[in-house]
Amino acid sequence: MGTLTALADEVRALDGSRVLLIGGGRRAQAVSPLGSLLAAEFSGPAMHTPVEVTEKALAVLREHDVDCLVAVGGGSAIGLAKALALRTDLPQVVVPTTYAGSEATPVLGQTADGRKTTLRSAAVLPETIVYDVGLTLDLPVGMSVTSGINAMAHAVEALYSPDANPVTDLLALDAIRRLADALPKINADPKDPAARSNALQAAWLAGTCLSTVRMGLHHKLCHALGGSFGLPHAETHTVVLPHVMATQSPEAMARVALALGVSDAATGVYDLVVQLGGPTDLRDLGLAESDIDSVDADPGVRALLREAWSGTRPQQHR
Ligand code: NAD
Repeated sequence: MGTLTALADEVRALDGSRVLLIGGGRRAQAVSPLGSLLAAEFSGPAMHTPVEVTEKALAVLREHDVDCLVAVGGGSAIGLAKALALRTDLPQVVVPTTYAGSEATPVLGQTADGRKTTLRSAAVLPETIVYDVGLTLDLPVGMSVTSGINAMAHAVEALYSPDANPVTDLLALDAIRRLADALPKINADPKDPAARSNALQAAWLAGTCLSTVRMGLHHKLCHALGGSFGLPHAETHTVVLPHVMATQSPEAMARVALALGVSDAATGVYDLVVQLGGPTDLRDLGLAESDIDSVDADPGVRALLREAWSGTRPQQHR
């Protein structure tokens, strides 16, 4: 708590003296800690990092002779900083305020003409992360739940990744345990600093999994749904995850179930989302049933998407 006061020192440590501050409402909290280092602000990051927004921010950056990027916010603010770093090679200090985990990854998803493409490059990995639990205390419960399940999705898919290794397994299971513990506590008391801190640590662990091993079907589907139909990122992850889990390796799912303290991982995550008041169906997120036919997928995956569309509880592991 209060670590934002270190922001100016972190910028100077990267030889920065003219900062572009990126983010939504939380960005205001960084203005005073940055003091005279602040050269310009950009308040309009958008989900899925549209290239036209990046172009606008790039113009501001050039106009103000910026030499360091500071992003305060969720995956959208951090995604914009990454997109700018890719184009300018400027250093980034990022201050995450959700549990998306983007701060810990060299991954950038960008959208152009309704298509989302993802790249992996050391050029987009933020140089410095500042975690300040204080900035997360106001994250609405609904966003906390969906963002937390977004983090859980990184950890779950790491366990059955073709690149999985004993270290990422440990990180993933620790992230899942922390989220299962923290999310109900945040739901009961959104300003519980210990639960918030636990969730932020889980976000870093899960982001590190995403950074290290390839993700699978779940991320592919959410990426397609977000890019093509503009569905909200964290909410889409929350709805789709239990349905994908019901189709995955029983060994990996048994480990997830143990970490969650339930008998079946897929229904365990679904029930947790219901208990926390989160979304359970793609229909409510604005997807038309006919849109499912245009997703590039085989009949089994389309059936899974139909289940996620209507929001039925997934079958026990099959
Ligand atoms: P977001 O950044 O779009 O934030 C959602 C909303 O919550 C915004 O309106 C934001 O202003 C608000 N908000 C953020 N923090 C808040 C706080 N503490 N209190 C109150 N309001 C707050 O949502 P997100 O789910 O964090 O990020 C989604 C984006 O991140 C997507 O574009 C996704 O593709 C990307 N992402 C990338 C990676 C990666 O590794 N590249 C990983 C996860 C997500």
